[in-house]
Amino acid sequence: MNCPVCNRGLTAEKYQYLPYHYCKQCGGMWVDAKLLKNLAVRMAVDLNIKPCEKKFFQPRTVERPPKDDRVRLCPQCGAGMKQINYAYDSNVIIDRCAACEGIWLDKGELIQLAQFHQIDEDAVLIGRDLLKNQNNSEEEDHLGLIVTAISILARAILRF
Ligand SMILES: [Zn+2]
Ligand SMILES: [Zn+2]
Repeated sequence: MNCPVCNRGLTAEKYQYLPYHYCKQCGGMWVDAKLLKNLAVRMAVDLNIKPCEKKFFQPRTVERPPKDDRVRLCPQCGAGMKQINYAYDSNVIIDRCAACEGIWLDKGELIQLAQFHQIDEDAVLIGRDLLKNQNNSEEEDHLGLIVTAISILARAILRF
């Protein structure tokens, strides 16, 4: 199996019991889509990775054109891979093969996924509510913002 970026042979490796293929040249990795979340979550916990808060309020990107002009080919089955937004709204753009359900991660992207999984779930929900209210604010939805602010306070009080 060769690297879709630099065409070097990939090395089979394991993180705990989770297998993946690694490119020593560019630091990219190939992993089965079913194992990806597990890998990112384990890594986040083991390495005590801190969440990346800057991403909370960024607008969501569903899909974007490939980082370079050419489409990358799946190292496993040769099909053209598609760039997708991991977990729909992480804003980490990864390459996915729809044919064999494999995922290609460029160097550093697994850390970003780990950071994404360390984000406090409540904070993410609150952030989404705020964004939604901002987007609907043509009709001045002040009540919604007040309710959200109260729920933030309530959560903070309950937690500490
Ligand atoms: Zn490579
Ligand atoms: Zn494939």
